[in-house]
Amino acid sequence: MSAYHALTEQEAIEIASGIEGFFPAGATLNCREIGDGNLNLVFHITDAASGKSLIMKQALPYAKVVGESWPLSLDRARIESESLILQNKLAPGLVPVVYKYDPELALTIMEDLSDHLIMRQGLINGIRYPKFAEDISTFMANTLFFTSDLGMNQQDKKERVKEFINPDLCKITEDLIFDDPYTVSANNNFEPAIEDAAAALREDKALHLEVALLREKFLTNAQALLHGDLHTGSVFATPESTKVIDPEFAYYGPMGFDIGAVIANLLLNYAGQGHWIADEKELADFRSYLLETIRDTWNKFEQKFRALWNEHGVDRIANETPGYQDLYLNRLLQDAVGYAGCKVVRRIVGLAHVADIDTIPDAAARERAQRLALAIGTSLIKLNRNAVSIEQAIDIVLTAE
Ligand code: ADP
Ligand code: MG
Ligand code: MG
Ligand code: MG
Repeated sequence: MSAYHALTEQEAIEIASGIEGFFPAGATLNCREIGDGNLNLVFHITDAASGKSLIMKQALPYAKVVGESWPLSLDRARIESESLILQNKLAPGLVPVVYKYDPELALTIMEDLSDHLIMRQGLINGIRYPKFAEDISTFMANTLFFTSDLGMNQQDKKERVKEFINPDLCKITEDLIFDDPYTVSANNNFEPAIEDAAAALREDKALHLEVALLREKFLTNAQALLHGDLHTGSVFATPESTKVIDPEFAYYGPMGFDIGAVIANLLLNYAGQGHWIADEKELADFRSYLLETIRDTWNKFEQKFRALWNEHGVDRIANETPGYQDLYLNRLLQDAVGYAGCKVVRRIVGLAHVADIDTIPDAAARERAQRLALAIGTSLIKLNRNAVSIEQAIDIVLTAE
């Protein structure tokens, strides 16, 4: 069974039974493929008698969403499992434990987090996550700082950059986030009702310049090992616990890309809530909570990143040059704001959307959410190089309509 092929549920059970010491001998295992993504199979394997369970994620050699016409390297399964293992060292307890990685089958066997809920769904349901800002800021500060030239041996870092070369997955980002939304592309996917707004994206030259600069950084700036796909669908959460999954897009890129992903997905929920919460007061409260989470996430990230730098910084010049740390953090904020904007825009007009907005059943309410998101996204992109405070981004949201 070792040569690569897409596993059946029965084969997944056989592999799970073979993991020494995990399930009791002779256990009757149950298996269900629960993947909801476009690129992978996810098997949930359980033993009712012992209550033990695990997850097996297998990479497919193509993107399901566009059929076998879009081939994708299986090496991303290695990148995902190696990222999870490294993230668990740098930010303990904030990712699932990897039990085993099988390179032949492009298979990662990991901790089952089914007692958590995918945060995107939780937010749609109106659940608040009081630990999220604390946890995600720790996750980002630790993983980004300690994989950068500020926090690790710079020769070792160059070796690590090589281990995380991820061209197929980077190309998805480069096309779907930085290119398609601003041009006529078969990959785009938006409703006729917002054709005018999509046309405005295609015609806005000032916007194109900002997106071109953000894209250039994504292409060239090997600043830190990113998660690369840090949206609320990659977060399993309960009010007490946060676990980050799905780092198959990991590569060395600009830190602001991860921070921006978190901000963008909170904002997409903000836009969608106009439908999900009918009561005006409750809506205003929940939206304030989302903005407070964005504010906290940035502020805690900045504070933790500076503390790590002051305590563990390895780069003498970075440590000793007056003004450098402040400028560095300001550039991170600017990048985060810019990438947040790009990520909001692509979820409205690009190929892959988000349930926060797409599952709104009422067409007029959906259109309102889409227009609000686009207004916020484009304003953030235009702010990016001038941003000096997270409050400016929050003001954009408060005044957008
Ligand atoms: P993809 O890369 O295809 O998006 P994900 O890693 O995001 O795959 O997983 C897809 C879905 O599978 C998740 O939304 C979740 O429902 C389920 N899943 C993935 N990993 C786990 C896990 N460790 N524990 C429980 N469920 C998981
Ligand atoms: Mg998914
Ligand atoms: Mg994925
Ligand atoms: Mg996913």
